[in-house]
Amino acid sequence: MSNANNAVIGAGLTFARLLQQNGISVTVYEAESDRHSRNQGGSLDLHPKYGQKALSEAGLLNEFRKIARPEGECIKLIDKDGNVLADENVDGNRRPADDTDKPEVDRTALRDLLLDSLKPDTVQWGCRVDHIEEAANGTHDVHFTNGAVTTGITLLIGADGAFSKVRPLVTDVEPFYSGITMVTQWVMDASTKKPWLDRYVGAGSLMMFDEGRLLICQRQSGDSIRTYASPRKPLSWTKESGIDWNDYTAVRKAFAEDYFGNCGDDVKRVLNECDDDAHLDMRHLYMLPIGLTWSSKPSVTLLGDAAHLMTPFGGVGVNAAMADSLYLAKALITQKSNLHTQEGISRAIEAYEQDMFPRAEFFAKKTYDGLEHHFRATGGQEWSEKFKKRNS
Ligand SMILES: Cc1cc2nc3c(=O)[nH]c(=O)nc-3n(C[C@H](O)[C@H](O)[C@H](O)COP(=O)(O)OP(=O)(O)OC[C@H]3O[C@@H](n4cnc5c(N)ncnc54)[C@H](O)[C@@H]3O)c2cc1C
Repeated sequence: MSNANNAVIGAGLTFARLLQQNGISVTVYEAESDRHSRNQGGSLDLHPKYGQKALSEAGLLNEFRKIARPEGECIKLIDKDGNVLADENVDGNRRPADDTDKPEVDRTALRDLLLDSLKPDTVQWGCRVDHIEEAANGTHDVHFTNGAVTTGITLLIGADGAFSKVRPLVTDVEPFYSGITMVTQWVMDASTKKPWLDRYVGAGSLMMFDEGRLLICQRQSGDSIRTYASPRKPLSWTKESGIDWNDYTAVRKAFAEDYFGNCGDDVKRVLNECDDDAHLDMRHLYMLPIGLTWSSKPSVTLLGDAAHLMTPFGGVGVNAAMADSLYLAKALITQKSNLHTQEGISRAIEAYEQDMFPRAEFFAKKTYDGLEHHFRATGGQEWSEKFKKRNS
């Protein structure tokens, strides 16, 4: 059994860095066994007002620039027949040189940057929360699946993602299925093993939007490409489709021949070339209601997906999480001399939530619009018109 004052469950590394810089101690309890235990997923773009601002205040912006990939912003749009609607890889269509404000970064590189900026032992690995109890004095005791218990937590932050164990302490609202199922594949050593795909995707992302389906290939560092193929289907479709999701060859065949079967040859070739079986993953995308709020609780709050889970179609989830980290840290720093009292902590939480709720709603609306746009037949054409206007 151990004791902690300020505890973050899950991610929250930017938040921990900001607190430590300001002399406030914090411990992060993370379910994963170490920093290498799980592939962290596809690359992210960090926006100047959110992700980059948080890194700047954390004193890490220069280090971020060394790992950022501005060329990853480049977009190639195709329609379902494989016709190219817009291509920023091509001379004449390139993004203006000064429009590299949202560079991509690999998740692992970003997480390593943040982890390396923290004091040793800030992150307690292998600590998956099982349940949380509230003590009579208003503090919390966190019970982990490994049998360990941390008691006396005066400030508890849930940064534990989509299916947060902390969320039920502030609201009984649960995430619901967004209507989108996503199959992800990852091609390694693309330039040597899949030279056609490597050239076809280009420097950043290749995107095809169509009625009820989407295909995106996204360049990662280390000569690899991630591909996301999504049908818009009810949850029951996963079973009713008859696809054996453990048989990756069958999954690929079903997608290339059935769900994308009436697409152009290049579109089907993309799906067939993504044959790295080590990395095929099928997931259902969940979301929380747009504009979710709750009545402020004196010693517990949420940040990131735990607070406002949304689908990836606005490209803002990490930016929202990093903005939360920044403004929660600022609210606590403002109350620094009162953080030994419950009143000081609850004032900081309230100030943070009043600022976070409208920002989260803004991001969630943008994301829902993105979802509708990405799954409509005219989505690609609409974007290509925007590109043309921007470049004219
Ligand atoms: C396919 C896809 C593509 C995306 N692309 C983008 C993009 O381009 N740009 C963008 O801004 N966003 C993107 N997002 C969204 C983004 O990934 C999330 O919004 C972001 O990761 C949320 O960060 P988080 O720290 O709140 O949660 P997470 O990244 O989910 O982190 C939660 C952490 O909590 C830990 N945890 C979970 N349960 C427990 C527990 N019980 N006990 C202890 N620890 C626990 C997990 O191990 C994890 O480390 C994408 C999402 C998906 C699914």
